[in-house]
Amino acid sequence: MAATTRVLQCDPASISFHPPAILPTISSPDTQTAIQAAAHELVHNLRPVAFPTETVYGLGALALDVSATSRIFSTKGRPADNPLIVHVSSFAMLHRLLPPQFILPDTYTALMKHFWPGALTLLFPCDSNTIPSIVTAGQPTVAIRMPSHPVARALIAVSDAPLAAPSANSSGKPSPTRAEHVQRDLEGKISVILDGGACGVGLESTVVDGLQPDGAIRVLRPGGVTVEDIERVLELEMASPPKVLVHKRDYRDDVLEAAPTTPGMKYRHYSPAVPVHLLCTLSVPPSSAQPVDIASYLDSLKASSPRPLKIGVLAPTDSRFATYPLPSDGIEWLRFPLGPSAEPAVAAHGLFDGLLTLERQGADMILIEEIGEEREGLAFMNRVRKAAGESIWLKMD
Ligand code: AMP
Ligand code: MG
Repeated sequence: MAATTRVLQCDPASISFHPPAILPTISSPDTQTAIQAAAHELVHNLRPVAFPTETVYGLGALALDVSATSRIFSTKGRPADNPLIVHVSSFAMLHRLLPPQFILPDTYTALMKHFWPGALTLLFPCDSNTIPSIVTAGQPTVAIRMPSHPVARALIAVSDAPLAAPSANSSGKPSPTRAEHVQRDLEGKISVILDGGACGVGLESTVVDGLQPDGAIRVLRPGGVTVEDIERVLELEMASPPKVLVHKRDYRDDVLEAAPTTPGMKYRHYSPAVPVHLLCTLSVPPSSAQPVDIASYLDSLKASSPRPLKIGVLAPTDSRFATYPLPSDGIEWLRFPLGPSAEPAVAAHGLFDGLLTLERQGADMILIEEIGEEREGLAFMNRVRKAAGESIWLKMD
């Protein structure tokens, strides 16, 4: 266990890549030193370090070293049956990981052309001679992505090794989108955090399986790259584009759900220490749900505590709950606005930041309002359903 955690500042704008050169050019000496210190920790001490990616902050370790990757699981308290994504900085590094006889499907060529580097993770057949089974949790496939964040890519390139990297938080907590989120959670457990500012996307990558015999693209986990964008690119690049199927929306998979290769299927996920309610104000309630009048709901919250409650609200600025005249007696409202409803990317960017910020501000509970499941809204609602202990359908008229 590391005694002190150093937070090293990095300026992403000082890093540039000029293929075919493998190493980046880093114009800021401080950034250069920080990345070298982190690479030294990874390569020589075999210890994990936290670094920014465009999705969320990652906790990376050498993917091909069992003792290094096992420290990711112990640092996070991550269950051993939840596989890790391997991050590469170049196509040459990707090809070194793949089985020699593997031929890239045309779908992957098209998706990589548009979304790599970026927030898209693809499943590949796992070469068990190369990739330790601790990384894949014994799956026959390995998940790989090439991050676009300059600090992440530079760290992988300077380390000259693929990094296995889940989000840099204790297992079950919301994923960190700023260095201070990582510090608050993992202080004293890791020795280096690279601080490259706030993550652009704010939610994890989209995980795609295009290896099935029917050629369809299966979205195992919605994320930073939207299903609409995947469909658009496949239509653009392919004469007969395959179907894009979203797990749980368009198909079920009993084997997948029994072996929890997609986060949150088996474990509680993304949850702050305080209760989270999902407020449904758009969707039709299922027959099992009993919709509640908003006034009664607010009364029930007040009645649940002898003292005034601090309640955090994560909602779009123009939503039905955000524009409802909320009572100020007995409740102090802490609002974390999620941008206009028409811009789900803003909501996605703010979700984990909002949960962690409201928790730090001392919220007793957090209410998240439902948004439409278009574009980034699909990934947003996927994470919210896993974070929320309860869903409440509100009658608001
Ligand atoms: P994270 O915890 O955000 O790093 O996400 C890692 C997730 O990637 C896992 O929980 C799975 O959802 C997915 N994943 C990684 N490897 C595989 C695999 N071999 N098969 C299916 N999904 C995978
Ligand atoms: Mg995670």
